[in-house]
Order: sequence, then structure tokens, then C-alpha cells
Amino acid sequence: MSRQTIWVNLSTLAHAPVGKSESIVIVQGPLELDELKVAFLRGTLHCVRVEKEILVKGLLETEVETECTRCLTTFWLPLQLEIDESLSLPGAGITAERPVRLAESGWADIAPLVRENILLNMPISPLCSPDCKGLCPVCGGDLNRGECTCDTAPSIDPRWAMLGTLLDEMEKE
Ligand SMILES: [Zn+2]
Ligand SMILES: [Zn+2]
Repeated sequence: MSRQTIWVNLSTLAHAPVGKSESIVIVQGPLELDELKVAFLRGTLHCVRVEKEILVKGLLETEVETECTRCLTTFWLPLQLEIDESLSLPGAGITAERPVRLAESGWADIAPLVRENILLNMPISPLCSPDCKGLCPVCGGDLNRGECTCDTAPSIDPRWAMLGTLLDEMEKE
């Protein structure tokens, strides 16, 4: 079963003086973040202790399962996540800007932050490839797997054809 949490160890920063920093390498296998299926998550996060929080910045690479809006095939979409977040200190309150708080031990589950960043970076209309041919409008076949024999020449809706004739006649008058 896929993991649903991304625990990071910030124990050296949790109770450290302001200005202390630490880089954390993230290497995670398959994850399930609520509705999102994630193949992997890799990258480095630079974490700095400031007065009232811990700032977390870095670039994470991931692949998320999604459906092509043209051919409806499920595929793994590569994404780069620019993380720029802050974490609440142990015992501090949680806010909308800081939804994740360190435990007393200094560990934090950053899964909610990663999930939010993935959702922000997801394209509105994901495509399995930029030149995806989509589905045949007649038989529904996947045109990426070969052309079908359907006649897909753009046919004109008979109602529009009639309107065209009417307009022609009006122009004549
Ligand atoms: Zn496609
Ligand atoms: Zn067809």
C-alpha cells in the first residue's frame, strides 16, 4: 500500500536559535495524498529557523497520475514543485498560511503542503503528449494507436445548412 504521509525530521531546528538552517533530502516512493496518486517525490528542501516559524524552500520533482483530456488515457504527469512554505513551531497555532506544525520531537508530516503544491501546479487540461491526436469523434477509437476508417470530414449540421441557404436568399433580395 502506498504511503500517505511525508515525514521530515527537523529536530535540529525545532528548538534551535534563529538563523540555524538545514537541508533535507526527500526521496519518497509511491504516495497517495487523498485523491492524488504520486509515483515518487524527490528533491532537496532548505529549511531555516526564523523567529516564529521554519521557512521551507526548494524544488521537488514528482509524477502524478492523471487523465489526458484529449484521449482519456491515464498517464503519469511529470511536475516540478517550487516549494516556498513555512511550518509552525512545536506548540504554536496552525493557520491557513502554516497548516503544518512540528511535533515536539521536531518531526513534521508535510504531505498537506505537497498535495496543495501539486494541485496548484496541475494544468487545467493535461495532455499525455503535446501532439496527442485524441479520440475519433465517430467511433471513439484512440487515434494515437492508429487511424480508423471513419469519415471524419467536418459535416455541417442540417439546421446550420438551412440557415446558410436562408442567408443566401436574403442577400439576393
Ligand atoms: Zn492523450
Ligand atoms: Zn473512427
